[in-house]
This record gives sequence, C-alpha cells and structure tokens, in this order.
Amino acid sequence: MIGFIGTGKMGSALISGAIKVFGQEYTVFYDPSENTQKAVTEQYGITACHNNRDLVRRCDIIVLAVKPQILFKVLEEIKLAFDDEPRTVISIAPGITTAQISSALDHKAQVVRVMPNTPAMVGEGMCAISFAEGFKGDADSTMKLFNAVGRTVILHENLMNASVVANGSSPAFVFIFIEALADGAVKYGIPRDKAYEMAAQTVLGSAKLMLETGKTPAELKDAVCSPGGTTICGTAVLEENNFRGAVIKACDAVFEKTQNMEK
Ligand code: NAP
Repeated sequence: MIGFIGTGKMGSALISGAIKVFGQEYTVFYDPSENTQKAVTEQYGITACHNNRDLVRRCDIIVLAVKPQILFKVLEEIKLAFDDEPRTVISIAPGITTAQISSALDHKAQVVRVMPNTPAMVGEGMCAISFAEGFKGDADSTMKLFNAVGRTVILHENLMNASVVANGSSPAFVFIFIEALADGAVKYGIPRDKAYEMAAQTVLGSAKLMLETGKTPAELKDAVCSPGGTTICGTAVLEENNFRGAVIKACDAVFEKTQNMEK
C-alpha cells in the first residue's frame, strides 16, 4: 500500500502516477482539510486515512508531500507509528537530507529523497532520485512511481540541492520565458491566446527535438541561426542583455536558498 501525506500540487500529481502503478485500491492519503479530503476522494477514487499515523500503519511506502516548514512536525507526529516492518519513506522537500529524516524517525524508515517538478501533473515530470546510503527499502516501486509521471535520474545525495536548480524551481523560469516570448508576439499583433499557444508549443517542441536527437542546445541553435538571418540578430540581443548570465544568477539564488533550508 502506498500513502500520501499531503495532497497539494505535488502530492496530487504523484497520486495519478501511483494509481497507474499500484491501482486505486492500493493508494491512500491523508490531508487535514475536510474539503481537500472530499475533493481528492472524488477526483481519484482513493481512500482517506483517519490521520497521518493511521496512514503509516497501513502503508509500506509513504510519500511526504507537505511543505518543508511543517515536515518536521509531521515526522514527530508519525514516528511512533513505525515498527520493525521495513517501510520506505519518500521525501520531496528541498534541502532536507535523508539523514535528517531518518534521524527524526528514529532510524526506523528507509528514506528516499526526490526532487520532482510540476510538469509531473501532465506526465512530463523530471524527477531526481537519491536513495539514502545503505537503503534497504522498495527501490523498484519507488522508480516505478516516478517513471509513471515522467523521466527520472538517480543522483548522489550531494547533488540533490543542485537538482532544485535544474528541475525543481526551473519550470517557473520556463514559464517566464514563455510569457515574455508571447508578449513579444502580442506586440506585433498576434492575439494573446494564440501567442501563448505558439510560445508554449515552441518550447515543448524544441525540448523534444533536443531530447530525441541527442543534439546539444548549441548545435540546434546554430542550425536555426542562418548567416545574416533574422534569428542571429535576435540571439545577439539576448547576449547583449546578458540572458544567460541572468538565468545562471537565478540558479545561484535557488541553490543558496536551498542550502539555507538544509541548515
Ligand atoms: P502544497 O500544494 O501547499 O501542498 C501541501 C499539502 O499538505 C496541502 O494539501 C496541505 O493541506 C497538506 N498538509 C498541511 N499540513 C498537513 C499535515 N499535518 N498532514 C498532512 N497534510 C498536510 O505544496 P506542494 O507545492 O505540493 O509542495 C509539497 C512538497 O513538494 C514541498 O516539500 C515542496 O517544496 C515540494 N516540491 C514542490 C514543487 C512545486 O513546484 N510545487 C516542486 C518540487 C518539490 P492544506 O492545504 O489543507 O493545508
């Protein structure tokens, strides 16, 4: 049985994956809000547990999908529900280590740290996964769960804060780029709804082209920039305005904030 503690944006995206892999009858959840409980039961056809401890007792895989600020409160609440049964605990909180979680649960859980992202809601997530040292839990089901909502990579835990940069926070940067591109198109007369569709599909198609051809972004960019053409003129303006530098600085800010959360 797999159980979700917290069914907000990420929790519900992962519930869709869990239903595909384990089935509705083997997926349960707990969320403190009665309205949320009702909505999740109606939307996914899965059972709500009485509370977080009840959920832990019923499950062999537990996904912690609450905000990092309340994670330790939840760990304190559930730790007495763990016994000698080997239970896998998956945390998706940024900046909180497997060692911190394991210690908060009196070393009674097998901990996995995952950094997912919101495109998991449409089955196109990118999830970085790190198993705690000496992990003896259910690695196979963990991989199946995250592969059901997109792609996965396994990383050493010392790279998990960098993963918040690479895939956790970065969808927001992509949306800002799409919005800016659409604004540029609206400026020259394209209606807003068509501009959003054109910009979003261009990002989707470009990403797909890169993943499917295995070519580097530089190769694909060069292929679009014909000598003396329109695209190289636009590219030059992006360089003049430090587009790459701004993106890398945004990544620095995400990384620094994540490191501070660990402290
Ligand atoms: P969210 O939408 O705010 O969802 C959190 C859920 O936890 C809410 O449904 C909340 O219920 C519930 N909750 C609060 N207290 C609880 C308790 N004591 N027991 C059980 N459930 C409780 O947050 P989110 O964006 O899904 O984030 C969840 C985790 O994923 C966080 O660690 C976040 O950093 C991580 N993450 C998020 C993203 C992202 O882009 N959103 C990406 C990567 C990782 P109420 O609403 O009723 O309070």
